[in-house]
Order: sequence, then structure tokens, then C-alpha cells
Amino acid sequence: MLNIVIFGAPGSGKGTQSEKLIENYHLFHISTGDVLRDHTRRGTELGKTARTYMDQGQLIPDELMIDILASVLDEHRDEAKNGVIFDGFPRTIPQAEALERMLSERGTGVHHVVGLEVPDEELVVRLVKRGQLSGRSDDNEETIKKRIAVYHNLTAPLKEFYQERGLYRLIRGTGTIDGIFEDIKKALD
Ligand code: ATP
Ligand code: MG
Repeated sequence: MLNIVIFGAPGSGKGTQSEKLIENYHLFHISTGDVLRDHTRRGTELGKTARTYMDQGQLIPDELMIDILASVLDEHRDEAKNGVIFDGFPRTIPQAEALERMLSERGTGVHHVVGLEVPDEELVVRLVKRGQLSGRSDDNEETIKKRIAVYHNLTAPLKEFYQERGLYRLIRGTGTIDGIFEDIKKALD
């Protein structure tokens, strides 16, 4: 079993590199952003709640997000048996502590944290471009800046959390998609 957390700021390439990891390592992908957007599209109660936070560039409250993750893990127990790529979770220290608990209850843990590091200026350029192509409502310049600030305040401290546990693999997230993936593979082997 191989559980990987793919970690980085908004626009750092988590989704892109997750796809390559799935192909190579046959893991189950959990993108919390995708889970929430799916609820928003279907107009569920959770989707309506999530939308108010996402459009403000804020995080969904920890207790809610932790419940969502636990139910996704339970619903996909079978597909997740080779391991999981956690993309977009954890985003706060309480979420990371909850993930440790959830995985240890299931007899496993986090094996690697792939930290994609990209300068803020580059993130803004990428996300503005993505917003023009995808129409994602949170990919506008004002919300992007808020999301990057939230990242530095609440999410970046996880780097130290995972460094202390010897799990953090620093990956330079600039360059070509394939080049970055080669660096990830080297770090995992
Ligand atoms: P990337 O571009 O690297 O995929 P992202 O930050 O642009 O990252 P998502 O991961 O799709 O996008 O997240 C979009 C939004 O969903 C976040 O800004 C936040 O509001 C909400 N969200 C997703 N995951 C979490 C989480 N673990 N905790 C709280 N809120 C979350
Ligand atoms: Mg994503």
C-alpha cells in the first residue's frame, strides 16, 4: 500500500501530477476540490455550503472537510486498497492530524508527501490563465490572491509538520510537466 499526499499552493500542479502518479502507481485519486465541485454542480446542500467558502477563497471548515474525507475513504475502500493520492487534503494542521488518525485506524499511514514548490508570481499567472480556459469561479485575480494568502497562513505550516516526520519530499514545481514527474519518481524510489 502506498499513500501519497500531493502538497502545494493553488496552481502548483497537484492535479496534473496526480494524473501521472495514478497511471504509474495505480493509486486511487481523491481530490477534495473535485469532490466539492461535484457537489456544487449537483446542487446538494453540501455543494451550496462549500460554494460560499470557495468563491471567497476560504477553506471549508475543518470538521466538515474531515467528515467528507472519511466518507469518501469509506465509500471507495476497494478502489483504495493499493493506496491513495490525497490531492488538496490536508490543508491545515487539524486536517493532517485527522488524516493520521483515519489512516492508522485503517492500519496504514502516509508514506510520502510530495511538496510542489512554485513561486507566488508564477502561481498567479497559471491560475489566471486556467480561469480563462475553465471558467472556474475561484480562478479570478482577487480570489487567487486570497487563496495564496490562505495557503501561506494555514497550509504552508504543514511542510514542517511533515518534515518532522521525515515524509516531506521537496519538488521544484517549475519546468516541464514530464520533467517534474521524473523528479517525483526519483523522490519516491
Ligand atoms: P490546484 O490548482 O493545485 O489543484 P486549488 O487550490 O486551485 O489547487 P482545489 O484543491 O481544487 O484547488 O480547491 C478549491 C477550493 O476548495 C479551495 O480553495 C477550498 O475552498 C476548497 N477546499 C478543497 N480542499 C479543501 C480542504 N482540504 N479544506 C478546506 N477547503 C478545501
Ligand atoms: Mg486541483
